Amino acid sequence: MARSAWLAMALLVAILPRTGTSQDALNTGACAPAAGTHENINAVLWVRTSLEYRHVTTQAFRLASLMLDRGLADRNWTAALEQTSGYENLPPAVVLDVDETVLDNSPAQVEAMKSPTGLFREEDWDRWVRKAEAKAIPGAAEFLKLAAAKGVEIFYVTNREPKHEADTVRNLAAEGLPFADADHLLLTGEVPGWGSDKASRRRYVASRYRIVLLVGDDANDFMSGVRAGVEERMYAVAPYGAYLGTKWIMLPNPTYGSWENAIWGGSYPPNRADALKARCEMLR
Ligand SMILES: [Mg+2]
Repeated sequence: MARSAWLAMALLVAILPRTGTSQDALNTGACAPAAGTHENINAVLWVRTSLEYRHVTTQAFRLASLMLDRGLADRNWTAALEQTSGYENLPPAVVLDVDETVLDNSPAQVEAMKSPTGLFREEDWDRWVRKAEAKAIPGAAEFLKLAAAKGVEIFYVTNREPKHEADTVRNLAAEGLPFADADHLLLTGEVPGWGSDKASRRRYVASRYRIVLLVGDDANDFMSGVRAGVEERMYAVAPYGAYLGTKWIMLPNPTYGSWENAIWGGSYPPNRADALKARCEMLR
């Protein structure tokens, strides 16, 4: 296109009335989705279809392999804030979360999004877990097999419930992940005092092993005090910057997590419209 034609088009755009444009919608703070879309669609598509997601998770587990060697060579190294003394001569262990860290549940999210309510319901979750069909997150199996071959014990610390134990063990085993047994799967509520905050379970592992790495997709997989508001969780994690990418290996999860709960202050709003409103208000 000739330069004069570009100029004419630019001028036309500049003088056209702007009512009803998407820019206006943003300016008014309306943040309304187009009819027929779902708030989570891009996040789930990124996990389900993108090469980039696979590369990021593989990258995280390769970094974990490198840091494992560093941590094994240094007896003073521990990844757990709960582990403060007397651990130097304990055998090494790695603690990982399960969902969206070693098992990919995105097919269940697709199902929920296509359901009449569009919401993830507990009965759908239970049905999905019972199938034991989740695939391993890219990079997880290679890392875990390597760690096991080096004599490192693996513990899966998950907020799945005791009723999910047998199916979760079956799923981990089906994906060829090492230490897929009830002794290495620590579920929320399995023992009195094991709440969804994972500190008590990290403390349990730390009493017998030196925790070389923590691996998870949610800040709660690494430390307490991060199930809070958007700003508060940033402050909580700030003192531990040196742990990131060394002792703490984070997997990406754009589809749900403490980060999302932080947007509406803990509990999901009464309906999707209110949830969307809360999301829109957070856009800044
Ligand atoms: Mg998780």
